[in-house]
This record gives sequence, C-alpha cells and structure tokens, in this order.
Amino acid sequence: MSVYLDHNSTTSLRPEVRARWNELLDAGLANASSVHAPGRAARAVVDEARERVAAALGVPEAWVVFTSCGTESNNAALRGVLAAAGPGAGLVVGATEHASVLEPARALAAAGRPLALAPVDGAGVLDVAATLDLAGRPECALLATMAANNEVGAGAPLAALAEGLAALGARRPAWHVDAVQALGRLPLDLAGLGVDFASLSAHKVGGPLGVGILVRDPRRAWLPQLVGGEQEGGARAGTENAPALGAAALAIELAVREREGYVARVGALARELWEALRARTDVRLVGPALDDPQRLCNTLNLRFPGVRGHALVARLDLEGLCASVGSACSSGALEPSHVLLAMGAHEEDARAALRLSLGRETTHKDIHTAVDTLVKTTHALRSA
Ligand code: PLP
Repeated sequence: MSVYLDHNSTTSLRPEVRARWNELLDAGLANASSVHAPGRAARAVVDEARERVAAALGVPEAWVVFTSCGTESNNAALRGVLAAAGPGAGLVVGATEHASVLEPARALAAAGRPLALAPVDGAGVLDVAATLDLAGRPECALLATMAANNEVGAGAPLAALAEGLAALGARRPAWHVDAVQALGRLPLDLAGLGVDFASLSAHKVGGPLGVGILVRDPRRAWLPQLVGGEQEGGARAGTENAPALGAAALAIELAVREREGYVARVGALARELWEALRARTDVRLVGPALDDPQRLCNTLNLRFPGVRGHALVARLDLEGLCASVGSACSSGALEPSHVLLAMGAHEEDARAALRLSLGRETTHKDIHTAVDTLVKTTHALRSA
C-alpha cells in the first residue's frame, strides 16, 4: 500500500463530490447557453454553482468567473490587468510565487512591462515594507501576492498588506491574491481585505481537475483573455462544463465549511510526523515554525543534509511513498527551487528539499509508515 503525501500537487476526488458529479453527468444536461430545456437545466446548475462558490468565499456572485484551473486564473488576472493598463504600467509579484504567476509576469516583462520581485524573509514570508514600497511606485498597476506558498507553507501577511495598500490612496495598484493553496486551510476574507482578483483551484480541495475560479471585482479595470462567446458574462469564453462546476462548487463549499476541523486534525498529524522524524534522523524544517498560525498546517518542507531531493523522491517512490521536491509544475526540472533560493538558501541546500504535504485522508498509520520509510531511505542514500 502506498502512502500519498503530495496533496499540494493534487488531492483525490471526495466521495460526495464524485457522487454529485455522477448525478450531474447522468442528468442529461446540454450546453448552458442553449434555450431548450436541457440547456436551461445546465444553466441552472452553473448558476447554482456560482451562487454556492460566492457564498462560500463571501464575495458577490458577479465576482466569480469559472476557468479551467488555477494557472488560467493567474494568467487571466495578470495579463488582463496589464492589458487594461496604460503603456508604461508594470507589476510587482512576490519572489516565491508559483510558476503560473512568475511566468506570465516574466512574459509581460519581456514585452516591455516593468517588473519587480517583492522579497521574502528566511521563512518565506513576504517583506511587507519592501512590498508596499514597490507597490506604491507610479509604474505599478498590479501587485500579485500568494496567500500561502505551495513549497514551504508560508502564509502571507495579508492583513498588513491590505492596510498598507489602502494607505496608498490614489496610488494603490490592483491586488491579486493566488489563494490556490490557502483554500480550506487558512481563513480567507477576500472582500474584507479589499482583494481585487484571486485564484482558486478545485482539484486542490477534493474537487475535479479542470475547474478553476477567478474572483474578480468588476470595478477594477481588466480585459478578458479568452474571448469568443459571451459565457461568464463575457469574462471567459467557452462552453461551461456544468457537471464539473456543480461538483467543484460542492468541494469548495465543504473545504471552507470543514476548515477548522481539517487544520486541527491534519496539523496534529504533521506535528507528529515532524517530531517522530526529528527523533530518529538528522532533519531540518525549512520555512515557518510549525506553531505559526499563518502557515499551511499540512506542508512540511524538509532537508536531510547531504541527501539530494530528487534522488530521495525517486527512492521514496520505489518504497511506495509519494512525495515531491517542491512544486509539481517544476519537479521535472533539476534546477534548485526558486522559492528556497529567494529565502536565502545556498544552491546545495535548495537542491536538498523534500516536500511532504498531508491531506484530509492522511492517517496515523500513513505517518508511521512514512517515518519508517524516510529513516530507512535517507540512511541508505547517505551510506551509498
Ligand atoms: N498557484 C499555486 C500556489 C499552486 O500551488 C498551484 C498548483 O500547484 C497553482 C497556482 C496552479 O493551479 P492549477 O494546478 O489548478 O493550474
């Protein structure tokens, strides 16, 4: 039996979400833009999904745009704001953002848009004063900050950023928050914080692959990036996948509703894993301290000195333990993690990272098996 500790990459479909999806697949739904009865039935499913997502996130329904994934939502936010901004306008993004923010930002920079990276501290937490200094510059049209980092679990100081941004008055840029990893794990008051754009992804919380959300305050200047039909109020063209949206809405609703129980249970398991490992092997925890309430409770970024992350992940896979070196989007690359480098790690240390991310269905038995496997495997690699 394998142990899956890679929930930041993706999670398995929740049984109740699968049941809802199957029910909708069997409901004979047609194209939600068609005027006939099966078309209207699909429209009702899409409308209800939007209503439920909006209620779960505490934002108006008109702010919810369905997309295909978190990556699309991040691209849409960055490219859409800059497309609506005047020439010379640029952006500021956190140095440890996911590739789906950093790459569009770099593409915009290559096309002539000024780009600045906001620094983080040694635990991966965004430097608020430096970020606000960059965000307040006249050329900054958009600030993009992640709510929580996928590799080390550092949460962003969103309240302090919100306050600092509000104090910029007329110089305040639009604010995009990648909340893909924070959903169901950290409290998220997007409207209360004054966030203008946010990204979410259903497959990170037991929902189907292929459904993302772009939260968008329509009062902010923005241009759609996928054009064609008038779906999503013109914000994102393409026939809606009504059954998947219905299933995704349920997964998001459950993730928000069950967040406190998830944090208590999964956080305790993560601590148990860490304590057991620490007692039996030479291991370092990278990122924020385990008792930091703003961190992702399920994410452990570990370093076993002298052991390369890629070699370890391959060996663990043979032993039936699914882990990763960092982001799944870059785990094929042998480059050291840009997140760890931005946190000030030496290249060698940045190559030694192992990310374990626990999930809703992780058990005590999984933790004990994982610890035994890690002790055995790191010992074997060190003596090789
Ligand atoms: N943002 C963060 C912080 C992520 O961790 C991920 C996925 O790992 C994404 C964005 C991209 O989401 P998706 O896989 O839905 O494209």
